Parts: sequence; C-alpha cells; structure tokens
Amino acid sequence: MSGRRQTEEATARLLREAGALLEGHFQLASGRHSGVYVEKFRLLERPPQTDALCRMIADWARELSPQVVAGPTTGGVIISYEVARHLGLRSIFAENAEGGGRSFQRGFAIAPGERVLVVDDVLTTGGSVRDVLDAVRAAGGEPLAVAVLIDRSGGKAGFGVPFFSCLALDLPSYEPADCPLCEQDVPLTIT
Ligand SMILES: [Zn+2]
Repeated sequence: MSGRRQTEEATARLLREAGALLEGHFQLASGRHSGVYVEKFRLLERPPQTDALCRMIADWARELSPQVVAGPTTGGVIISYEVARHLGLRSIFAENAEGGGRSFQRGFAIAPGERVLVVDDVLTTGGSVRDVLDAVRAAGGEPLAVAVLIDRSGGKAGFGVPFFSCLALDLPSYEPADCPLCEQDVPLTIT
C-alpha cells in the first residue's frame, strides 16, 4: 500500500470515527445535492483525531523548514496551532479585514522573508487560503506551502506553492432535478 493511500485511508477512518463524514442525502450550501457531507466541527471538537491529522501535515511540512504557521479563522486557528505545536513554531491567524480579504491583527507579525506554512481545515473554493497568502505577502513574509485536512476542490485550487492534503475528496453532487437520491426518495437533510 502506498504512503498516499495509507494517509487517505487513515484520514477517512478518523473522520468517520469523529462522525464528520456523513453519508445520506444532503442539500449543500450551493443548493446542489450530495450523498456525502463533511461536518468539520465534528472533527475539530475532538483533539485526539484533530491532532492525528495535524501531525500528518507537520510530518509533510518539516523538510520544507517553515518558520511560522498561519491559518484563517475559524477552523484554521485550530489547525495552525496544532501543526505549529508539532513543529515547534509560532502559530498566527488571519481574520476578516475591513474592506474585504484577511489580515493579521492582534499584533501578529512576520519578519521580512520569514517562511510561512499556510494551513486550513476544508478546502473548497480556496478563497480563504488565498486571502491568507495575500496577508502573508502584505506582512512581508514568504508563502512557503499550503496544507489542508480535506481537499474538496477537485484538484482545482492551485496556489503556486507545494500543496498537501490529508484527504482529497472528489464528491459528486447533483442539481436537484438530476439527483439520483431524490429519485430514490431518500430523505433530504438541509445542511
Ligand atoms: Zn437530491
């Protein structure tokens, strides 16, 4: 079994254990229907499982020699902190800024050229991660790499730096009119 497959299987198992990987019939925020839904806070409320995944990110990132770890609020704060703990680094987070985007507040500072590992929980469109990368550059740091727990982007989010996910989930979703679960009258959960 390849290392990649082991990582993905271990991640899926941890998510199921935490009750974060739900199977059924869901209406997503986009209005589309899907047979699988990831409720990341079922994972993030469990330190042992969250820690196990953050350790995978730390093990991947170590050889890149990051100097700081940063994530977006809300879930990214937890991921950043846990990954930084494994690497013995500072953990900072970027919050919504007035006028859009994100910025480092609360006195968080990045030294000129400091190498920053950007992390988040679930990647969908990549907007939050891009905002953090922009905030790193604005603060004078160097975006080194991006790592997330779950990549739901279908491989479409490119950041121009090395990228890692504990699990890539390419989940099918359907317009309600074409949904096979609707066809089978499976009860619908609105997420
Ligand atoms: Zn449906």
